[in-house]
Amino acid sequence: MEKKEFRAESKRLLDLMINSIYTNKEIFLRELISNASDAIDKMYYKALTDESLSFNKEDYFIRINVDKENRTLTVSDTGIGMTKEELEDNLGIIAQSGSFDFKKENEVKDGFDIIGQFGVGFYSAFMVSDKVTVITKAYGDSNAYKWESEGADGYTIDLAEKEHTGTDIILKLKENTEDESYDEYLEEYRLQGIIKRYSDFIRYPIKMDITSNKLKEGSEDEYEEVKEEKTINSMIPIWRKNKNELTDEDYEKFYSEKHFGFEKPLKYIHMSVDGVIRYDAILYIPGETPYDFYTKEYEKGLELYSSGVLIMNKCADLLPDYFGFVKGIVDSEDLSLNISREMLQHDRQLKLIAKKIREKIKDELLNLLKNDREKYEKFFENFGKQLKFGVYSEFGMNRDILEDLLLFYSSNEKKLITLEEYVDRMKEDQKYIYYATGESIQRIDKLPQVDFVKEKDYEILYLTDDVDEFAIKVLTKYKEKEFKSVSSSDLELDNESEKEEKQDDDEELINSMKKILSGKVKDVRFTKKLKDHPVYLASEGDLSIEMEKVLNQMPN
Ligand code: ADP
Ligand code: MG
Repeated sequence: MEKKEFRAESKRLLDLMINSIYTNKEIFLRELISNASDAIDKMYYKALTDESLSFNKEDYFIRINVDKENRTLTVSDTGIGMTKEELEDNLGIIAQSGSFDFKKENEVKDGFDIIGQFGVGFYSAFMVSDKVTVITKAYGDSNAYKWESEGADGYTIDLAEKEHTGTDIILKLKENTEDESYDEYLEEYRLQGIIKRYSDFIRYPIKMDITSNKLKEGSEDEYEEVKEEKTINSMIPIWRKNKNELTDEDYEKFYSEKHFGFEKPLKYIHMSVDGVIRYDAILYIPGETPYDFYTKEYEKGLELYSSGVLIMNKCADLLPDYFGFVKGIVDSEDLSLNISREMLQHDRQLKLIAKKIREKIKDELLNLLKNDREKYEKFFENFGKQLKFGVYSEFGMNRDILEDLLLFYSSNEKKLITLEEYVDRMKEDQKYIYYATGESIQRIDKLPQVDFVKEKDYEILYLTDDVDEFAIKVLTKYKEKEFKSVSSSDLELDNESEKEEKQDDDEELINSMKKILSGKVKDVRFTKKLKDHPVYLASEGDLSIEMEKVLNQMPN
């Protein structure tokens, strides 16, 4: 039989797994159970929606089997199984988890931590096994297959015998070493503990034989050991549990179990809505910017369930782009299982849920801004750019939702402030909200135009992000106060009263400057706005010099 090699990335990850000195090896079970649950989700959904298939709830479960003599641990599921091609594609190369590029970069620094917190699915089995065997039969396939691997040097695929659709993953556990025990993964209490800890919310029963002492039949004092199949998990998804029964840790655990992120979430939001439309949702604001967040590859969306059955992994319609960083799940009884992607887009119920979610996220962010400024600033550092894009890209349509969430650097406060704080502090005679644009705070500080406004003791917003000025332009005003660039020619400040008037005796100087700069500038004028600087650049019309620069850099 031919042995096939793993692809390069998979090999590296496998090496990491096999030689792992990581202490939290127990997560391999969580990963295998989560894969089993995913596979059952797919099958369950098919059975529920395809009338030609008979449906029987009892047919869907995960089973854990222990064989102490042979040192094997088996995780079986009645899920959708894998065809031969799928075995090649899914287990021969690293899964499309997307996190791998990120891992590569961070491997040296804290690779093991990432494995532990983030999980890398199937391969984690090699942290505890010498050999992994997968026996699987795909739905609709008459053949079953066996995939087998002893680690980095490759795997084999062969025909096999299996009666029912589904998958068995058989782990041949490593022998104990001096400082590492693998025997524990053959112990009932240990396995039960791991399942309870990581997989309690899995919606299918995780069954296992549990030994207990029972009275012998017909006897009153004689006990015997009996094995009985038990369901280990409570099967209540976290979002159906009562909020006050849940701890921060529960929510954080769910976040990492779901692989929403490898860090702690910055904030979680648990909604249980019992109105016209009923739904539960758990939403997270990630603690870090996902490595691909500001790229085209990033896919926003929430997991969507209908009465506990997963119907879509990333339902994009539930989140506006500007809140695209939010992760989480939504479960509603009022959504039809049979709904297609296209129909979902127009679904009234879904639209209503999306609207409520949008408002809730906004409210929670405002709360954070009010009550935990430091955390909010951390949030804004990660995702503020996206909010500003949001203002700009929909032409201010989202102003109500977004304008109070924006932060800009203030010349007076030397820190980020809200527009509301700016307007509240405006001087009595001040007409406009002033802003200045530039590459950095230091650079803006040195702009001659800034001096002029500062002299009046007016606060200036420093815009350093490319998108800032676009957003401000789209907003045009905040609480009836217009924005004005310090570079604009009509600042309407009284110290510019003699503005731009030409003085005859300097005519000659101006003319020669125009000649020298011809083709580079449009005009040369006198100004009284300058204090310590001999000259400044101003723009005419709506676009500032910085915006022109940005626009010129954009591909047409
Ligand atoms: P992920 O779950 O993030 O996709 P994994 O490494 O855990 O990554 O699994 C890789 C792929 O292998 C899965 O996406 C799935 O297609 C397939 N797979 C793994 N375990 C099973 C299983 N028990 N039944 C069916 N398919 C499975
Ligand atoms: Mg997985």
